[in-house]
Amino acid sequence: TADPSVLGIKIHAVTKEEALERLEWYIKSRTPHLIATANAEMVMFAQKDRDLADILNAADLIVPDGAGVVWAARHRGFHVPERVTGYDLTQSLLHKASLHGYRVFMLGAAPEVILAAKHKAERLYPGIQIVGIHHGFFSAADEGRIIDQICNAVPDVLLVALGVPKQEKWLYRNLQKLQVPVCMGVGGSFDVMAG
Ligand code: UDP
Repeated sequence: TADPSVLGIKIHAVTKEEALERLEWYIKSRTPHLIATANAEMVMFAQKDRDLADILNAADLIVPDGAGVVWAARHRGFHVPERVTGYDLTQSLLHKASLHGYRVFMLGAAPEVILAAKHKAERLYPGIQIVGIHHGFFSAADEGRIIDQICNAVPDVLLVALGVPKQEKWLYRNLQKLQVPVCMGVGGSFDVMAG
C-alpha cells in the first residue's frame, strides 16, 4: 500500500519498532540519512515554505509524530499503524545506542539545556557514548567550526534541536559534509530531557 500524504507531505506509515530498524540499517550503511518527525505544525509550515516541503519529501524517513497528522492520514483512508513521536523515537534510539555502542552527537537548545540533556542520557542509558554536544545559538560564522567538531567526533547519530524548520534546513544543507548515518531533527526533545 502507498505511504500516506497529508497536505502534500509524505509520511511513512511505520511503527516505532520499524522506524528503529530503519535507523539501524542507516547506521550499518555508513551513508547519511535525513529523518524528520511530522506534526501538524510542520505540515502547516510546509504549506507556505516550498523549501521545507521539498526537504521533507526528500527525507529518508518521516514518522507520524503528531496526533493530528495520524488522524488526517487515517481520515483520508491511509493505514497508519501508530503514532511515533520524535521524543519516544529519540529515547528508544538512545537506548539502542547504549546497547550497541552507537556514537551520539547532540546539537541544539540553550547551553545549560544541552548539557543537562547529555547528563540525563548518561543517567538513563548507562554506557552511552555521547561523543559531543553543542548548543543551538550559533552564528553563521561559527558553522564551519561546529561542522568540523561533529565530523571529528565521527558520530553514528546526530540529534539536532534548532526548532522547525531551521533544524531540517540546517541538516539538509549540511548532510553531505557531515556524513552522519542518522541525522534527525528533534525539536523540543532536549528541553523535555533537561526537564
Ligand atoms: N533552538 C536553538 N536555536 C535556535 C532556535 C531554537 O537551539 O536558533 C532550540 C530551542 O532552544 C529548543 C529547540 O530548538 O530547544 C526547539 O525549539 P522550539 O520549541 O521553538 O521549536 P519547535 O521544534 O517546537 O517548533
